[in-house]
Amino acid sequence: MILEQIDKDLLKMAEESETVLKDIYQNIDDICLYNSNRILSAFIENGVSYSDFADINGYGNYDEGRDKIEKIFASVLGCEDALVRPQIMSGTNALYLTLSALLKHGDTMISLSGAPYDSLQEMIGLYGSSSQSLKANGIRYEQIDLVNDDFDDEAILKRLQEHNVRLVEIQRSRGYSHRLSLNIRKMKRIIQKIRKVAPEVIIMVDNCYGELVEKEEPGHIGADIVVGSLMKNLGGGIASTGGYVAGRKDLIHMVAERLTAPGIGKSLGANFNLNLSFFKGIFMAPNAVKSALKIAVFSAYMLEKLGYQNVSPAYDEPRTDIIQTLELGTKENLVHFTQGIQSTSPIDSFVHVLPAPMPGYPFDEVMAAGSFTQGSTIELSADAPVVEPYTLYMQGGLTFEYGKLSILLALTNIKKQAE
Ligand SMILES: *Cc1c(COP(=O)(O)O)cnc(C)c1O
Repeated sequence: MILEQIDKDLLKMAEESETVLKDIYQNIDDICLYNSNRILSAFIENGVSYSDFADINGYGNYDEGRDKIEKIFASVLGCEDALVRPQIMSGTNALYLTLSALLKHGDTMISLSGAPYDSLQEMIGLYGSSSQSLKANGIRYEQIDLVNDDFDDEAILKRLQEHNVRLVEIQRSRGYSHRLSLNIRKMKRIIQKIRKVAPEVIIMVDNCYGELVEKEEPGHIGADIVVGSLMKNLGGGIASTGGYVAGRKDLIHMVAERLTAPGIGKSLGANFNLNLSFFKGIFMAPNAVKSALKIAVFSAYMLEKLGYQNVSPAYDEPRTDIIQTLELGTKENLVHFTQGIQSTSPIDSFVHVLPAPMPGYPFDEVMAAGSFTQGSTIELSADAPVVEPYTLYMQGGLTFEYGKLSILLALTNIKKQAE
C-alpha cells in the first residue's frame, strides 16, 4: 500500500498544508464552479441527446453530435466557431494546421512571446530541412522576446505599425522554458493595444494547458483564433485523442477547408465513435483542471516548505496554466522524484525510470508517464532534461487524492535516498 510507505513527517506536513492552502483551494473551487456553469449551460443550449453519441461512419455526413461538440467548444472558448476533430491528432498538429491554413507565400508571422514551444520550431523552419515547413513555403517568421516575463509592448506596436504582418502568435503557457506563463490580464492588455494599430492582423493563441484555469479564455478578450489538444485540459482525461481550433467563423472555415478540402470544410469527417468521449471530456474538464491545479499548488507548497528554491509558480502565485516547475537541485533528487511519480501511476507503475536520450532533445531526459491515454498530460505526468538546475516540468492529475499520494511518495523517495 502506498500510504504506508509515505514518510510520517511528510504526511504531517501534508495535513498541516490544508489550513495554509484553504483559501487558495477555495479560489480554485470558485473558478471550477464558474466554468462548470458555462459548460453545463452550453450542453443545455445545444440540446445534447443520446442520439448525438451515435457512431456515424464513412464520410460522416450529418453527424449532429459532432456539430454540437463544436458548438459547445466554441461557446466555452468565447469564439464564434470551432473545429474539434480526432483527425487533429495533437496540439502540434492543430497548430500546424492553423498556421498553414492562414499563412500563404510571402506572409509574415510574428511570435510575440519569444521562442515558440519546442515542437513548433521545426514546423516553422527554425531548424531542419523539411519541405513542409512554413519557411520552405515562403512564410517569413519573426519573434519579439518577452521582457521580464511580459510582452514588449513598445517593440510589438512599433513593428505592427508597418502593416505588413498577417498573423501574430502568443503562447499562453511557458512550455519548456523558465518564463512565467502569460495570463489573461497580460494578453488582454496587449490585444487591446494591437487592435488600435493593426486592426487586420490575426491574433492567434496557443492555448495548450491554459483552458479553464481562469474565468476567461483568449477568445473572450479578443483573440481571433485559439488552438489546443484534447490530451490536455479540454479532453478532461476522457478524450483519448484529438485537437481543437476555435475562433472567428471565417478563419475556422479556412482551417476546416485546409483539413478536409475546399468545398467540404466542416461538413464531413467521421468521428470514429468518439463523440461520447468528447462530450464527456469537456464536461469533466473543469474538474480535471481543478484537480491538476490543486496538485500543482500542493507540490509547490511542499517543496517550498522543504527548502527548495525556484519553485514556479510559487504556491500562492496566481496561475494561468496547469504547469508546475520544480527545481530539484541534483540529478539524484530529479531521478528519485520522477521514479516516485512513475511508481505511483495507475499504468506502468513497474517501469523503472532512468535518464535516457530522446529524439529531438539535446540532453538525456527523465519522464514519468503512467497515463491511461498514451502521452496524456491532463493525467499526472512529469519530465525533465537531465541538466542543471534539474528542473522538473510537472502537470495534470485527474483527482487531487491520487496526485497527493504520488507527490508524497516521490518526496519520500528523495528523503530515503538522502538518509
Ligand atoms: C503541449 C503543447 C504543444 C503541443 O501539443 P502536443 O499535443 O504535445 O503536440 C504546443 N504548445 C504548448 C504550449 C504545449 O504545451
